[in-house]
Amino acid sequence: MLELYKQEGISEKTYHLVQKAEEKVKKVFDEIDQITDYNSLKVIHAFHKHQISEVHFTSTTGYGYGDVGRDTIEKVYATLFKAEDALVRTQFISGTHALTVTLFGLLRPRDVLLSITGKPYDTLEEVIGIKKNESSLLSFGIGYEQIDLIEDDFDYKKIKETLEKRKIKVIEIQRSKGYSTRKSISIQKVEKVIKEIRKVDRDVIIMVDNCYCEFVCEKEPIEVGADIVVGSLIKNLGGGIAPNGAYVVGKRNLVHLVAERLTVPGEGKEVGPSLGLNKSLLHGLFLAPSVVGSALKTAILTSFVLQQLGYEVEPTAFEKRIDIVQNVIFGNQTDLIHFCQGIQKGSPVDAHVTPVPWDMPGYENQVIMAAGAFTSGSSIELSCDGPIRPPYIAYMQGSLTYPAGKIGLMKAIEQMYKREQDDSM
Ligand SMILES: *Cc1c(COP(=O)(O)O)cnc(C)c1O
Repeated sequence: MLELYKQEGISEKTYHLVQKAEEKVKKVFDEIDQITDYNSLKVIHAFHKHQISEVHFTSTTGYGYGDVGRDTIEKVYATLFKAEDALVRTQFISGTHALTVTLFGLLRPRDVLLSITGKPYDTLEEVIGIKKNESSLLSFGIGYEQIDLIEDDFDYKKIKETLEKRKIKVIEIQRSKGYSTRKSISIQKVEKVIKEIRKVDRDVIIMVDNCYCEFVCEKEPIEVGADIVVGSLIKNLGGGIAPNGAYVVGKRNLVHLVAERLTVPGEGKEVGPSLGLNKSLLHGLFLAPSVVGSALKTAILTSFVLQQLGYEVEPTAFEKRIDIVQNVIFGNQTDLIHFCQGIQKGSPVDAHVTPVPWDMPGYENQVIMAAGAFTSGSSIELSCDGPIRPPYIAYMQGSLTYPAGKIGLMKAIEQMYKREQDDSM
């Protein structure tokens, strides 16, 4: 085995470091296995309830009328999330697109959107109009306000005051941290804040950006009172098999509004061809609990090892996980870049190419992205990215299998050692 690792350029030192770390986190892995069991049961129950069979793998083209596979997938999603309805479509380009369509679907001129988790995900800045764009919500006369978190929790007082002062149409809660330094928001915190919001305003629409959080714990946001929830299929729920797409689940009238915005007013959910992807969506969802488990184990192992190597990590190996994202705070640009390049070297696809920082559309700073994935941009597959700005944080996530995640981590460590040797020459 060690010989094989050496062939892959992994030294004995790195091998033993990671092997020992693995023993130290065994107990945490056992907890992850329990969550995987639970969520697998949830998925299988939803499949059985809706009698998934080969007929659901069939496809439509053109308008996509009467697509029984597509319609049943949406029923499965609704069951899984305990939601009234779902929209699960590959016509959504990305998570950002689904969030965009949802916001444009729900908000009208003079309405106000309120984010209570501070500045939203980078790519939403032009959507909302925080950053100028002729097609933003702001350009349609939709207002925006934001309340920052205090010590990684909601500013309950300010939320209450704001809701008492004026009518807010939609509240956005972004659970995963995105490219920020805050902690992600647990389902318990979401539950608590929704209870507080409901004391002041019974009708405000509460929307949750659930990206990266699906199947990380037992509950999902609808179960704690959210009205509508959005996420990407090239993250957790696609299980690495869905080639693109996103989902929106929630109250029937709200999902209807989003569907009418995605397709056509008057046609909504009735149209949208599945183009041969129904089987992939079901296959991916079936694998998703296990894939999320592998991603979590990879994150936990990385957290433990990188902390041992002297870097600050968030979360630590023993903290409760809220999403699949692991932060390593490198404190300098070189380590960040080498770590990402090492992750790329451990990828199944494009391992031979070297990622470098570049200007990405929708992002403020240059970003380095390691992604040797089967699906372009998929971040349920092992991937690591970091904006080139202090304190030089790597945002690592994914891995379709745990052994592959472990190899990726070893390659990243090796790349960092190699850099140290280069520096001392
Ligand atoms: C990934 C992500 C999104 C959407 O990203 P896409 O790359 O557009 O799919 C939105 N919000 C959060 C918190 C995310 O992590």
